[in-house]
Amino acid sequence: MIKFLPIGGADDIGANSYYLNIDGTGVLLDCGMHPRFIGAEALPKFDVLAGLPLDYVIITHAHHDHIGSLPFLIKKFPHVKIISTKQTQEIAAQTLQNSYQILKEQLSGDLSFELYDKNEIEFLIKSIITLEYENEISIRGITHIGKDEIRITLYDAGHILGSASILICYSGKRLFYTGDINLGKQSILNGAVLPAKPVDYLLMESTYGSTDSAKIGNWENNSKQLVSDLNKIIVSGGSVLIPMFSLGKLQEMLHLLYKLKLKSKLTETDIYYGGIGKSLCRIYDDNKYLVKRNNKNFELKDGGFKDYYLIKDPNEYVKNPSIILASSGMMLKGTYSYRMAKFWLKQKRFGLFTVGYMDPSTPGHKIQQINRGALLEFDGEKFKVECKIKRFYFNTHSKREELLEIVERLKPGTVILLHGENEAKSYIGYEILSRFNGVSLHSAEILKEIKLS
Ligand SMILES: [Zn+2]
Ligand SMILES: [Zn+2]
Repeated sequence: MIKFLPIGGADDIGANSYYLNIDGTGVLLDCGMHPRFIGAEALPKFDVLAGLPLDYVIITHAHHDHIGSLPFLIKKFPHVKIISTKQTQEIAAQTLQNSYQILKEQLSGDLSFELYDKNEIEFLIKSIITLEYENEISIRGITHIGKDEIRITLYDAGHILGSASILICYSGKRLFYTGDINLGKQSILNGAVLPAKPVDYLLMESTYGSTDSAKIGNWENNSKQLVSDLNKIIVSGGSVLIPMFSLGKLQEMLHLLYKLKLKSKLTETDIYYGGIGKSLCRIYDDNKYLVKRNNKNFELKDGGFKDYYLIKDPNEYVKNPSIILASSGMMLKGTYSYRMAKFWLKQKRFGLFTVGYMDPSTPGHKIQQINRGALLEFDGEKFKVECKIKRFYFNTHSKREELLEIVERLKPGTVILLHGENEAKSYIGYEILSRFNGVSLHSAEILKEIKLS
């Protein structure tokens, strides 16, 4: 018997964590932290795991909403074994130390919440069992009652470096958890690989389930539009700020801009990046031969990109037209993109382009909605927006048709939708039911158990 219990992230893009009880072996799929909450509220509901078997946690990739709570889990349940790809392990060594610093500041004075320490992260990283794509391992928990072993295989999910989907085979049944998955090509990554044979149970993300795919477009056409808009601003003497995530989106966009520059399509200009994104670029470079990707011979370190932390006065960007790829992606308060925005929005010749998902509660979302000439209240000041604002889609998740293609190819008897807002899950759920006969469909809900076999 396989039982499935979401303990976080089921009905929005939050603290993703899904518990499986496979005949007495406890396996947790992902262990994320909610990006909008602080303290205990941001964690998955670990309390419900007390008294249940818990032997393994498998991490699909190193984004905060999939790995951020891992140190808290291991502090509470130190015996749990961690499985991920080698690339996820390398990235986590950087990003978990980084989130430790942020959490320490956020939680200072909050005695009700016990934080882990830096040494605990180091120990945790070293203890990870790394697994290559499409290499199977067998696992068995302490209180396993079945006679069969549980076999685990990771597949390239095409989302960010090291991202994986998980295939679990047990007693003749096959369960596939997509994690964050992108079937389509980005600039560096080539897209996800799916198992060749059908599965019985499909746990599928639904981020873009309700977004019109025509609006999202594809990387190739979007980059043509982007370069034309960038050139217009640079030629007229302005600079462009593009807020983005430091992990995944930054490396893809740097690669894209470098290629456009090489083909002389992008006007010669300085491109800036900075912060933790720089060290994550090194991990992309170090793994260039180890993963399926485009342009294996190119390293981001050879792109001639400059560090924005060396620019002390934003007026430098008025003197020298530049492109700045700045974190955070959603322009959260206190970050470089947020600090720059106040200056940027008042510059007539400048541009502010967005290239990714914005949570509705974030400053980035507010700015994305506004147009040149409108009045904006931002960071305690009200002013007229002078710069050009434009939204681009460079998707790192599968589009709606691609999600349906996953169902088509894997022919599951049961589909459980997760990692998506309710609207996204309803839309894609309706499409699945109308196109595939006999599929049993569920929408994952926090703490609502589903018995699979
Ligand atoms: Zn992700
Ligand atoms: Zn995610």
